[in-house]
Amino acid sequence: DTDIERFSYDVVVIGAGGSGLRAAIEARARGLKTAIISKSLFGKAHTVMAEGGAAAAMGNVNPKDNWQVHFRDTMRGGKFLNNPRMAELHAKEAPDRVWELEAWGALFDRTPDGKISQRNFGGHEYPRLAHVGDRTGLEMIRTLQQRVVALQQEDSYEFGDPDARIRVFAETTITRLLKSPDGRIAGAFGYIRDTGRFVLFEAPTVILATGGIGRTFKVTSNSWEYSGDGHALALLAGAKLMNMEFVQFHPTGMVWPISVKGILVTESVRGDGGILKNSEGKRFMFDYVPDVFRAQYAETEEEADRWYTDPDHNRRPPELLPRDEVARSINSEVKAGRGTPHGGVYLDIASRRSAEYILTRLPSMHHQFKELADVDITKEPMEIGPTCHYVMGGVEVDPDTAAASVPGLFAAGEVSGGMHGSNRLGGNSLSDLLVFGKRAGDGAADYISSLADAKPSVVQADLDAAVAEALAPFARADGESPYEVHAELQQTMNDLVGIIRREQEVRDALSALEKFKERAANLSVPGERAYNPGWHYAQDLRNMLLVAECVAMAALEREESRGGHTREDHPEMSPEWRKVNLILSLNGDKVEMVHQPIPVVREDLLALFDISELKKYMTKEELAGHPGAAA
Ligand code: FAD
Repeated sequence: DTDIERFSYDVVVIGAGGSGLRAAIEARARGLKTAIISKSLFGKAHTVMAEGGAAAAMGNVNPKDNWQVHFRDTMRGGKFLNNPRMAELHAKEAPDRVWELEAWGALFDRTPDGKISQRNFGGHEYPRLAHVGDRTGLEMIRTLQQRVVALQQEDSYEFGDPDARIRVFAETTITRLLKSPDGRIAGAFGYIRDTGRFVLFEAPTVILATGGIGRTFKVTSNSWEYSGDGHALALLAGAKLMNMEFVQFHPTGMVWPISVKGILVTESVRGDGGILKNSEGKRFMFDYVPDVFRAQYAETEEEADRWYTDPDHNRRPPELLPRDEVARSINSEVKAGRGTPHGGVYLDIASRRSAEYILTRLPSMHHQFKELADVDITKEPMEIGPTCHYVMGGVEVDPDTAAASVPGLFAAGEVSGGMHGSNRLGGNSLSDLLVFGKRAGDGAADYISSLADAKPSVVQADLDAAVAEALAPFARADGESPYEVHAELQQTMNDLVGIIRREQEVRDALSALEKFKERAANLSVPGERAYNPGWHYAQDLRNMLLVAECVAMAALEREESRGGHTREDHPEMSPEWRKVNLILSLNGDKVEMVHQPIPVVREDLLALFDISELKKYMTKEELAGHPGAAA
């Protein structure tokens, strides 16, 4: 039966993580009828897994912190490829968004004088992450969901229907965005997981808040939903992706037991005093501080250790370098034969902090290692190694409104690009979700009020094509298994487009992807539409292959090493390449890529940096307007 259940909304938010919920709350607050759609259960998004905290320059722990310092750290972390307007808005608005969560009932950990406590994290000059132990994302999601429920209660009083203006559709997967004949967004099509029934949401605006792409790689901290759906939906709808070569490999994932390889070990372990050692017992990160960061990082263990209690007179430990640096260093140690028995390095907090401290600050990590690896982190070091964690690349959006290039389409959170440049600082995602989630809700509301004519309408032929595409795997007998193609895709991306990239390997990956695409065109799945995981996998595979191709194409093109993109054959950062964003779009079924100049950094923002630092990243011409340029 190909009946389609139809709904009509003003705003359809795809994704119920932090960015989706924050966007939906805003849209509803602007009086719009809003749907929240999530592929997984309501409450089960990546956001809930976030451990360390949300970065916001509130200055509660160190009063020297302010938005300018946060902006600087974010640009440095992203190696100056960030969209400067996004980094500015984010640094300025994050504190308000965190305080707003408190007003909605979130309970962050406290400083002794009762303010929201803030913790240290890699790349952040001052303690900046508002947190709830190591379960910050849980509190964030709980609070945002509670806010949605509060709004539903208001509607229940006013209209006698809690779903009148904001409704959640859980376990509902969107497989296609639909447009009107004049090219504007007109709706979203998908299926309900447990029944397999099709649904159409007619709406003039869609906000993508679908999170990341981690499942494209074999070793990842991401869970099953992160198949790059939003990235692919945007491309298929005619929007553009940017800088997909930048994939963050978090330095600390579990490496053992094999069944849990990749699961995240929070950076808070290092923020709270944990150190990295190789199999010879050496604290090796001192050997890996790159020139651009040398001035800010300690040179001796003594200085690094003093920093935890006296940060004003000492420099930071090198374990707290940005993630890309730490991940590459671990990779090098293991490659040089100084790894642990299971191919990682040691992360040791047991010998550095009391058991009581560890249990208070890192309860989930204690539980995770005890349950999964039978390791007591208050007594023994952990074995860890890099794991695919986050994608910096994403949908190209307008910084102020979160609008993509297709009218009516918006994107916020991990699915959007630009904010984090070539590397995201820990803690900057949770704040990103709040800041740009709200902005996307506003952007959609403003767009709707600007629409003069009737709502855009869906084209029947497109809808028919979406149904046919979804059903295709049932029509074939003896085709390929989606699981097999997926497993090979993951292995290929891990081996050939992973943490260290080489030209020939990336070329090999692209050829392999061509073959996977041919095989994916011939998938077959047995059974019915009702709760059929094989069928769901088949839908996801289209997205993963498209996203993988974008990552590989951009990784081949960018002949430099920067942030989450390391080319062994081009190991330097190049000031010329810094001026380039790689923009990907779809022409028919072919991915196309163009170079686009990056936005100019406003002079008042440039002036926040010393020119000697900027010279490490930028060309002379770019620095002509800097106050220090004449000197
Ligand atoms: P998500 O929270 O990932 O939500 C995506 C939503 O989209 C889900 O509801 C999903 O079901 C839905 N969806 C996806 N595809 C579809 C589809 N086709 N149809 C319908 N729905 C769909 N960041 C920090 O700043 N601080 C931290 O401490 C931190 N810790 C982390 C720990 C872990 C283990 C992980 C994995 C990430 C961590 N991050 C952290 C990163 C951060 O959690 C994520 O980047 C962020 O939560 C992404 O939020 P989001 O709103 O963009 O999407």
